[in-house]
Amino acid sequence: MLIVRNGTLVTPRSMYAADVAIDAGRFVEIAAPGQLSVRRADDEVDARGTYVLPGVIDSHVHFREPGLEYKEDWESGSRAAVMGGVTTVLEMPNTLPPTANAQLVQHKRALAEAKAYCDFGLYGLVAQDNLEQIGPMAEAGIVGYKCFLGETTGNIQPPDDGTLLEAMRVIASTGLRVGFHAEDDAILQHSIRQLKAGGRTDARAHVDGRPEIAEVEAIQRVALFAMGTRTPIHIFHVSSRQGLATIDAWRARGIDITCETGPQYCFLSADDMQRLGSLLRINPPVREPGHAEPLLRGLVDGRIDAIATDHSPHTREEKVKDDIWQAVSGFPGVETSVRLFVSEAVNTGRMSLQQYVRAASEGPARAWRLYPRKGAIEVGADADLTIIDLQRTGTIEAARMHGKNNYGPWEGRRTTGAAVATIVRGQVVMREGELVGRPQGRMVVRQGAVGI
Ligand SMILES: [Zn+2]
Repeated sequence: MLIVRNGTLVTPRSMYAADVAIDAGRFVEIAAPGQLSVRRADDEVDARGTYVLPGVIDSHVHFREPGLEYKEDWESGSRAAVMGGVTTVLEMPNTLPPTANAQLVQHKRALAEAKAYCDFGLYGLVAQDNLEQIGPMAEAGIVGYKCFLGETTGNIQPPDDGTLLEAMRVIASTGLRVGFHAEDDAILQHSIRQLKAGGRTDARAHVDGRPEIAEVEAIQRVALFAMGTRTPIHIFHVSSRQGLATIDAWRARGIDITCETGPQYCFLSADDMQRLGSLLRINPPVREPGHAEPLLRGLVDGRIDAIATDHSPHTREEKVKDDIWQAVSGFPGVETSVRLFVSEAVNTGRMSLQQYVRAASEGPARAWRLYPRKGAIEVGADADLTIIDLQRTGTIEAARMHGKNNYGPWEGRRTTGAAVATIVRGQVVMREGELVGRPQGRMVVRQGAVGI
């Protein structure tokens, strides 16, 4: 039994002082301060002066294991997650080998359950050559599917339109959602070829090589396929104003479409590429100024369902290059997302704490159908909590972070507000910046799947 006392509970619909009792990994009672009927507890957390949020879910991380453990592994990635206030991650399939069949889902699950500090869900890959595995991966307990429409880490070839359409028909029968890396490959390849031919090697060429139209075109195409197949879809890392407007338009036509964006798209722009160079290379790229504010507004009003970091660690040697084309894309994010959003959005008055909870916890839980087991503070739900101190100041420094490769575009940024405790199914895993729990992470398996 664990009791969290004297905190202010925050949900998207309410904010109130309460004590919470947790037993066997679930919330068992929520009451006004001092009013719990449960008296005896093995451990207590005094949350006075802080805000108690349903556990933050990062629905887009790359933890690199199996196959790329020199970049990250389940132990290091999940440690970074809980140190930053994240209680559940949804992990991407472009490992080596990719998570492209039921056996590899089970394999990755076993790797992760042996050493993850946070809970996790796994995405199954949809590629050119694994249609027959779509059903079996659902039975193995994946949370949804990931399809890359453009080239990516691991060099996974995007499926052709015919194959994708057929895959989406099969996915519709599983009841799961399929998410897309929405950049049209042909447009990217063409413009990157032209820039290289013109001799461009500067950091900004990466932005020019992946124009917004590539994102808009890809969203249009998969939304059209979703309409034809009645398949729920998701757009990963929406990066542009036009991308979001396209999603709005399809949603208005009745398509079941959810989406996410991340701190880099809300708080950085192509102007920062001058300063940060290849360190800021990511796909899709950060955009010219003028996109960040509409995306943040999308998170505030709920048109964007989730904050997701696309945590993509690489070594410093792989990242830092003079020639932008030689640098790999992606950087870490799972440990810094909570403090960045609290600092840059909540504490600047651009987003309320309740709106943050919707975007960081309830939204992703609903999109991937984990709600209310995840993403809620209510009796019977998994007892995942992220406790926030809005006043806690600090500076983002790779040397003080907990993944394998922490160097990124946020280095040196001062923040106000951070997670001061992370609780995963009733276990206090992080307290006051110290790792105090053991790796007891479990896979979140959708109800109805085999193996729960
Ligand atoms: Zn990604």
